[in-house]
Amino acid sequence: MSSQDASSQDRLQRATLAVSAGRPAPTPDGPVNPPIVASTTYHAGGPYGYGREWNETTTYLEDLIGQLEGGLATAYSSGMAAVNALLDLIPAGGVIVAGQNLYTATGIRLQELAAVGRLTVRLVDVADADSIASAIRGEGAEGPASWVWIESPTNPLMEVCDIRATAHVAREVGAKLVVDNTFMTPMRQRPLELGAHVVMHSATKGLAGHSDVLMGVLVTADAGLSENFVKRRIFLGAPPSPFDAFLASRGIRTLAVRVDRAEQNAQELTSRLIHHPAIAEVFYPGLSSHPGFEIHETQADGPGSVLSFTVTGSAEDAQAVCEAVRLMTHATSLGGVESLIERRRRWAHENTGVPENLIRLSVGIEDVDDLWDDLKQALDSVLR
Ligand SMILES: *Cc1c(COP(=O)(O)O)cnc(C)c1O
Repeated sequence: MSSQDASSQDRLQRATLAVSAGRPAPTPDGPVNPPIVASTTYHAGGPYGYGREWNETTTYLEDLIGQLEGGLATAYSSGMAAVNALLDLIPAGGVIVAGQNLYTATGIRLQELAAVGRLTVRLVDVADADSIASAIRGEGAEGPASWVWIESPTNPLMEVCDIRATAHVAREVGAKLVVDNTFMTPMRQRPLELGAHVVMHSATKGLAGHSDVLMGVLVTADAGLSENFVKRRIFLGAPPSPFDAFLASRGIRTLAVRVDRAEQNAQELTSRLIHHPAIAEVFYPGLSSHPGFEIHETQADGPGSVLSFTVTGSAEDAQAVCEAVRLMTHATSLGGVESLIERRRRWAHENTGVPENLIRLSVGIEDVDDLWDDLKQALDSVLR
């Protein structure tokens, strides 16, 4: 791409970039889409030579995601591979401040690394700006943190963290802030613009969007850090497959319309859910009653398509609701075109801070009245 093209791309909206970025330069009869380059080795003479170091299909995807988040993207074979690549960069004994209700596997990795003495982990309530600030500054104890890891909103409790304020405190002490932006996608929240150093994605979810790809991404505007992210991929051995990189690029082409539609559906469903007699509480940053509503509005362009709720009954009632849906799919994961529902505590390793009777709902792009009819009959089935 010429530099003139690059600067005109800078002015494009994200919905446009999702469609136009990350494509081969136009040549007569050249392909419009990135080719799937299924080769682990390359003819000698170039700078790379081997598939664990470089793949053209993946490079197109990284260009696309990098333009959407405003940085340099490195793709991995899963979200957890991306998490571990970053954690691997923290020197032994490093202090990391992390949300106490992070994605289950991220939380487990931090516990594991703390248990073997590799890292010191300080867990915080991400919705409490004062406790985050004091954990980052490390008044007392082991001194300031070197890294901070948050999600906003958190999975699945939907707690909102003030990303700007957290980035500000992190920068004061020279710490780096990572934001897991999986729930929001760059269509709704761009943490690098809010002062974060790194954005992490499970691209398995909303970015790829069709529940058919496992993929992770780290994005940063810091070229040195980005080089290290690529090295972690090479030496930890976690590149995505070229076929998956192709599918993720193809999924992102429709990201803007998928996010718009799924979010509209989620807003409509929550407005109906709050009046249903089987519902105790709805957790969704689009509700003005949500404690993080105002902060979320200052840092995101919408509440997204994932929500959770507790039922008035027991864990068994919540489980029964998930088993009673007919149109929605009773399954884990989120961010796909199909609506997915599950009781998170059905997993033995789920964070015990999550209520037993909490259901997470990832709203898809189906017709909203069909979705409501299904959810309503499932909720009605546990009323007595
Ligand atoms: C799924 C998920 C991950 C882990 O990603 P995988 O692609 O499953 O490895 C990390 N963070 C969040 C918020 C997730 O939802």
